[in-house]
Formats: sequence, C-alpha cells, structure tokens
Amino acid sequence: MSDVQNQMIEDETRDVKRAIWRGLRLRCPNCGEGKLLHSYLKVNESCDCCGLELKRAKADDGPAYMTILIVGHILGFGMHFAFVAWRPEPLTMVMIGLALTISSSLIMLPRMKGLIIGFQWAKRMYGL
Ligand SMILES: [Zn+2]
Repeated sequence: MSDVQNQMIEDETRDVKRAIWRGLRLRCPNCGEGKLLHSYLKVNESCDCCGLELKRAKADDGPAYMTILIVGHILGFGMHFAFVAWRPEPLTMVMIGLALTISSSLIMLPRMKGLIIGFQWAKRMYGL
C-alpha cells in the first residue's frame, strides 16, 4: 500500500458509537459482519469478512471492571428493593441473587469486551 493510501486511511474518522454498538453485538467494529470472539472471550486473529487484524486489541481488565460496575449497581439496587418490598426468606434472597448475578455477569462480560475493542478500534489504539 502506498504512503498516500496509508495517509488517507489514517485521516479517515471512525464512528465511535457505531464501533461500540458493533462491539456490543460481538461483531467486527470495522464491517459489523465478522465475529469478534471465539471460545467465549478469545479475540479472533482477524475478521472473516473484512480482514481487519484484531489480535492487537488489548481489553485487559476493562471488561471485568465494567461488568462488575454495571451488574453490581443494578443488582445491588434490585436486591435492596426486593428486600424492602417483599421481605423474602434470606436463603431465597441469596439463591435468587446468586443466580441473577452469575448469569448476568456471564452474559455481559463478552459484550463489554466487544465494547472496549470497538472503542479501541474507533480511537486507533494499539495499532487497530
Ligand atoms: Zn470486519
């Protein structure tokens, strides 16, 4: 690729909201078609559709932090509300709380990883 083409690609602005939305859907932030992850949380080497190199994405602890932040706030408030409103048995409260916390965390974790990778791609972080 020539220097002029490289400069044109560098100058091209990337839509952050669209990239984040595609990441939340676990799709490639560039084309929105190829899968972003495999084996639950492993990032694919590259996009199957557009060939975007995804292996340089570094989400690190960001997805876990964001998952705990969101799930903790929603379920913390929800459990407090349920306790005040219905006064369930403590064991019932623990079992429901555990089931909701674990399932919502497992659902959110890959999506938060996709969100962070989409944001990194839109901001050209780590050579994406
Ligand atoms: Zn793609």
